[in-house]
Amino acid sequence: MNFDPTSEQRRWRDLARDFAREEVRPRAAQLDREQKFPYDIVSEMARLGLMGLSLPQEYGGSGGDFVSYNLALEEISRADTSVGITMEAHVSLGCSPFVAFGTPEQKEHYLGEVIRGGERLWAFGLTEENAGTDAGGTQTTAELKEGRWVVNGSKKWITNSGTDITGGVTAIARTGMRENGKPELTAIVIPQDTPGYTRGPGYEKTGWRASDQRPLYFEYCRVPEENVLGERGRGFVQFLQTLDGGRVAVAALSVGLAQACLDEALERARERRQFGHAIAEFQAIQFKLADMAMEIELARNMVLKAAWLKDNDRSFGREASMAKVFASETAKRAADQAIQIHGGEGFMETSAVARYWRQVKINEIGEGTSEINRQIIARNLLAEHAEETKEEMVTQ
Ligand SMILES: Cc1cc2nc3c(=O)[nH]c(=O)nc-3n(C[C@H](O)[C@H](O)[C@H](O)COP(=O)(O)OP(=O)(O)OC[C@H]3O[C@@H](n4cnc5c(N)ncnc54)[C@H](O)[C@@H]3O)c2cc1C
Repeated sequence: MNFDPTSEQRRWRDLARDFAREEVRPRAAQLDREQKFPYDIVSEMARLGLMGLSLPQEYGGSGGDFVSYNLALEEISRADTSVGITMEAHVSLGCSPFVAFGTPEQKEHYLGEVIRGGERLWAFGLTEENAGTDAGGTQTTAELKEGRWVVNGSKKWITNSGTDITGGVTAIARTGMRENGKPELTAIVIPQDTPGYTRGPGYEKTGWRASDQRPLYFEYCRVPEENVLGERGRGFVQFLQTLDGGRVAVAALSVGLAQACLDEALERARERRQFGHAIAEFQAIQFKLADMAMEIELARNMVLKAAWLKDNDRSFGREASMAKVFASETAKRAADQAIQIHGGEGFMETSAVARYWRQVKINEIGEGTSEINRQIIARNLLAEHAEETKEEMVTQ
């Protein structure tokens, strides 16, 4: 087994690390305070190829593998998870559905001509007021009338949907009912300037404050029939697959944040003196640092294994859910312990760890909550066990 990244993977990780250290980290506190979307940072990331890292070169992407993308995303998120989620939501949620399910014309037009490796952003709209974890509750409708989809309804908390450089959203809508009584869901591509499509104001958030989330409204919003992503009625399967990839990336983002907590904790432990010693000399503090480092190492390995499975066209859904739950909870524990090591200073808004503590919670919620991911893992285990038991009975 080879744990060495390839030279290409190392190149992406180092490029992202250098950029994040020099251009993102020094501005993270101010961007969070002012709740400003960092257009210049995102534009530079597009120029460096980071905003299209795992997308095909023929459509304006950088052609990197999924491991490289996750290594780079960890480094960006180590500097600022607001920028990390902008990159993640654009690549994993906005663009990869075009790659996986789009027609050649859709790939050419949206990825190649509109998005162009991140010069414009694309959003993915699933969540609604009554459809969070339960996407079957989707109430936004799309009706086919005279060769055009007429979309009515609304979405909630959609990342990258309202920036000045957003190209549009792929929205999940109800396009009918199935014989089994469940809704037929279809993904519809809606460009930003479509009449009848509007965005509400951004939210006051606890974290990710320099990233963009909006409510979206569709009122007799008409798009051509060919704006169905792939095939009609495939929306449910498409978003499940999209979220599998997204979960690995949110796990990478969580590892980046956990690492940032450890970075700050190490620095503080070596600087802060009590009882005539650096607090790093006390075993109680050393054990906290050791526990943080062990969990981060494990979470990182889980991310990279899930990403490697995806790169090798193996099934990776269970590993994606495992990585997402473990990495997000690792980051939460790391943020908590980093503040503990900082003492009262960590409770001050001026300290980076206080910001990390506010940022960390969303990782256990977005792109599938920890509860839902644990359910996925358990169902997968049970199905595998049932299959093995059946095989044993056949061979007996
Ligand atoms: C900052 C931010 C950015 C986001 N970006 C996007 C985006 O770009 N696109 C998008 O479509 N959505 C986005 N979302 C929405 C996000 O994906 C949802 O918040 C998430 O899927 C959970 O849905 P919910 O918040 O409605 O929680 P709910 O579904 O209301 O769940 C509430 C609680 O009940 C639990 N629960 C629900 N059902 C079950 C069950 N069957 N068994 C056990 N427990 C259950 C959940 O785990 C959770 O703990 C974003 C959200 C935020 C806050």
